[in-house]
Amino acid sequence: MGLTGMLTRPRKRTSNSGGQTLGQVIAFANQKGGVAKTTTTLNLAVAFKEQDFNVLAVDLDPQGNLTMSQGMDPDSVERSMFDVLVHGMPIEEIIQRAEIDVAVSSIDLAGAELALSSMIGRERALQKALLPVRSRYDFILIDTPPSLGLLTINALTASDDVIVPVQCEYLSLRGLVQLENTLSMIRENLNPSVELRGILPTMYDSRTVHSREAVDMLKENFGDLVFETRIRKTIRYAEAPVQGSSVLKYDSSGSAAKAYRDLAKEVLNGATPRQHA
Ligand code: ADP
Ligand code: MG
Repeated sequence: MGLTGMLTRPRKRTSNSGGQTLGQVIAFANQKGGVAKTTTTLNLAVAFKEQDFNVLAVDLDPQGNLTMSQGMDPDSVERSMFDVLVHGMPIEEIIQRAEIDVAVSSIDLAGAELALSSMIGRERALQKALLPVRSRYDFILIDTPPSLGLLTINALTASDDVIVPVQCEYLSLRGLVQLENTLSMIRENLNPSVELRGILPTMYDSRTVHSREAVDMLKENFGDLVFETRIRKTIRYAEAPVQGSSVLKYDSSGSAAKAYRDLAKEVLNGATPRQHA
């Protein structure tokens, strides 16, 4: 059986009757590291912000790359998602304002899986933490660590949708099956409504046959679930975080920024911001 049979279709998120979006929580997941989860979380968040949406990005990776890429140092952060998940600190208290609002990570977060593992409701700590702020944001985007452990499970349990960035090199379909199996388990046990919103080909190099073949293979297996937008390989994505900024700010008129604006358009599918009081 092809993989497509095992997957859900992406929700057609046009809009509600007023043409407005409701707050949505989207996790960016792939247990493989270096596939552009963090890059995508940040730049898509900033692309939404450019369209006047209120956006919160949650850094759920103990490595704190998202936090760093907004110019903050996870080693000197005093209060982080660790305190929110493990000590029940209100998330408002750890949100820092940068290009977008960021619920920051710190190295402590590495201990969160262990600390959570003996707690009742351990898979729902993030879902619970987000409740009080869900109505305040149009989008809450969650960056996850490169594993399918308890932090990622918390992200998938708290989310409406999942976007899976996939590197167009060394494509691992087996890894994607494993991720889909985890999603099925989450649906059965924790969050029946979480959907695979789409698969995003990243680090695409149109000059190589290898990249094109990787996208063809994704299309064959996942059909319409593969976003039309391809994120090309360029050094801009590595340069921007060094400056503590998104690529949309770092090189606003460049093609790297445009790629994430295109993705935003594709994800928004015509939705417009809510009227904020
Ligand atoms: P992950 O969060 O999945 O581990 P990252 O977003 O941190 O992946 O990306 C891994 C590395 O690749 C980073 O150094 C990032 O700057 C770089 N990178 C991300 N997207 C691209 C791209 N499209 N082209 C080239 N380099 C990229
Ligand atoms: Mg990352």
